[in-house]
Amino acid sequence: MGTAGTMTTEAGDTPIQSQWVKISDALRGEVGEAAYQSWLKPLSVREMRNGLLTMSVPTRFMRDWVLAHYIDRLRLLWGGENPEVQRIDIVVQNDRLCANGATHAVNGHTGGNGQTPGNGVIRSMSFVGDAANDISAPLDPLYTFERFVVGKPNEFAYAAARRVAAAEKVPFNPLFLYGGVGLGKTHLLHAIAWEIRQRLPVRSVIYLSAEKFMYRFIRALREQNTVDFKEQFRSVDILMIDDVQFISGKESTQEEFFHTFNALVDQGRQIVLSADKSPSDLEGIQERLKSRLNCGLVADIHATTYELRLGILQSKAEQFDTLVPIKVLEFLAHKITSNVRELEGALKRVVAHSQLVGRNITLETTQEVLQDLLRANDRRITIEEIQKQVASHYNLRVSDMHSARRARSVARPRQVAMYLAKQLTSRSLPEIGRKFGGRDHTTVMHAVRKVEELLGTDNAFAEDVELLRRMLEK
Ligand code: ADP
Ligand code: MG
Repeated sequence: MGTAGTMTTEAGDTPIQSQWVKISDALRGEVGEAAYQSWLKPLSVREMRNGLLTMSVPTRFMRDWVLAHYIDRLRLLWGGENPEVQRIDIVVQNDRLCANGATHAVNGHTGGNGQTPGNGVIRSMSFVGDAANDISAPLDPLYTFERFVVGKPNEFAYAAARRVAAAEKVPFNPLFLYGGVGLGKTHLLHAIAWEIRQRLPVRSVIYLSAEKFMYRFIRALREQNTVDFKEQFRSVDILMIDDVQFISGKESTQEEFFHTFNALVDQGRQIVLSADKSPSDLEGIQERLKSRLNCGLVADIHATTYELRLGILQSKAEQFDTLVPIKVLEFLAHKITSNVRELEGALKRVVAHSQLVGRNITLETTQEVLQDLLRANDRRITIEEIQKQVASHYNLRVSDMHSARRARSVARPRQVAMYLAKQLTSRSLPEIGRKFGGRDHTTVMHAVRKVEELLGTDNAFAEDVELLRRMLEK
């Protein structure tokens, strides 16, 4: 057996096959034996035509994984080995698995070893029967632990998720993750699923939304199929249900969920749930279910901080070919505070725009491209609020922000307010000028420059401004 054996089945010892042997050996060294066995060994070369190299894997899940994790390396190594290879396509082709002798992957609870090569009856690589495959929603290949940026607001939820993914025995049941929209709940759930599927391919993992769960349940009721339904759900190793708040007020779905839940917990299977509120705060959920949900570990994901937003932006920016200046990232982290999804969307728009028009990304283009979004996020901080806050901080009256007084004790705070208005709102310089007693835009520009200069030289002043910024952003 071994890799070479798989190569000769179809195309014989063609140059391309022996190149693949070399490449996969190199990869084996890079990624380690475990990852190699799981993901790379089952890959095989199908054909090479017009610069397009087609490789196949036995399941869609593996295809997603290879695309997400190894395609860049594959491109590079193939390019080095064979300059004719310009593109690589990975297709799903079932019959390769058994022919490859890669039965390590099909020895699930079903006993996949009895399958004959080439008959196409591959039970997928990892699941109890095909239940998990039928029911589980697709996983996003980008939602992995590696791509999850950890910071204060999410470190607990992250650690809990990692624990569940790495555990041999169920550490707490259920794991209940909750937090506002777009803060990474789904990402963490997928990450757990990916990790378990990779580490323990024989475990059956089901991930689906509460909505899907309900939909399936109702369909089973209608088709008088509830026995199968129960069977499917109660035979999984890890059940993950996203957005549990959805079953609020849905009595019969809750009933069914409660029983499924108990059955799985009794058998020592792991359950992972997410919702937008803590179990106790969920409305329209039966008390007995709530108390069950509270039994395990409840971890909440807090709203993002500036530091986390910046970290996420830096990590996402690295994934693009385009250079995004740090100034722009900082600007976005300051301005788009609602949630990570929106933050990500903003960055993507800025990058897409720059690629489209072929111009570098600058603060100005960013403000232009994101005008609508910035205004929407802006509503939280107004120039009036800034003036009020700054005036009270320096013991001045708000009217001093508009007045013509030039005394340093008044002029400097006014400049700070203008600077913060530029930083924290998306108003233009002329607009800001108007709000400060009808001053000219060059005055505002001068104020912004002056403050920036002082920030670099005067620590006490910088602390003051930072404090004001924080108070305004609360
Ligand atoms: P939720 O399910 O809580 O509404 P998602 O998991 O769908 O939120 O996250 C929204 C988007 O933000 C996703 O694209 C996700 O990858 C991204 N995201 C959220 N938190 C993080 C994080 N800490 N690091 C990297 N990406 C994140
Ligand atoms: Mg979600």
